[in-house]
Amino acid sequence: MREFICQRNDLSLILNIYKPTKFKRLQIEPSTLYVVPTPIGNLADITHRSLSVLSDVELVLCEDTRVSRKLLNHYGIDTPTKSYHMHNEHRTVDGLVEQLQQGISVALISDAGTPAISDPGFLLVRACIQAGLRVITLPGPTAFIPALVQSGFPTDRFVFEGFLPHKKGRKSRLSQLAEETKTIVLYESPHRIVKTLIQCAEVMGPDRPASISRELTKAFEETIRGTLQELEAHFTAHPPKGEFVLVIQGKN
Ligand code: SAM
Repeated sequence: MREFICQRNDLSLILNIYKPTKFKRLQIEPSTLYVVPTPIGNLADITHRSLSVLSDVELVLCEDTRVSRKLLNHYGIDTPTKSYHMHNEHRTVDGLVEQLQQGISVALISDAGTPAISDPGFLLVRACIQAGLRVITLPGPTAFIPALVQSGFPTDRFVFEGFLPHKKGRKSRLSQLAEETKTIVLYESPHRIVKTLIQCAEVMGPDRPASISRELTKAFEETIRGTLQELEAHFTAHPPKGEFVLVIQGKN
């Protein structure tokens, strides 16, 4: 179960600010899909506009309704929810498009961060566009942007690779990335981070500079910079815990 953190004072401050009297409520458009980013750890990282959309749409599609209910409850939002995840997205997309065509307003959220970024969402967004429906994507939290900026590597050009394939195609993807001159951003799980660092060091060379940001916005947030070999040694000595973004400097 995902852990959300929020200092009590932050939360009460936000709840206090988030009063319809102080902020004009948005006009929710019918037949519109709103793609809404949610916090990647710290509950305070949500915009007023996102809260307003989530409370005013007719339906919120959630990756895991239990995870999202925690967030919605924190903000006193009782909009009906429905699950939309990688195991049902193919069979539910057509029905959702029909509902949208009939006029309902829908928000799509994932467990954390921006939907469709290494999360379900792309299929529904594409189907809505193909059906001529309006899609409004709100800006907000995602893990790769803070990790990229914190790495200190060039940010003018970068490639976001999400998760590397686990088996099929992994070797060839790594070989392609070894030649990449732009900054490379990867998502990784704690179980695979050491293996990924070893394999990246093999194809890119042990001295390639890299940066790992873990537990962004949470209590044990940290960013560790060094060569691929140094990072591998660090996480071999300190068993990796939490969520990781690996950023690798492009080939010189
Ligand atoms: N949609 C999300 C986004 O916009 O970042 C990504 C979801 S993906 C299923 C989960 C991965 O995102 C994690 O395995 C990790 O690589 C990264 N991630 C999510 N939250 C993070 C955090 N607080 N700190 C570091 N990485 C995080």
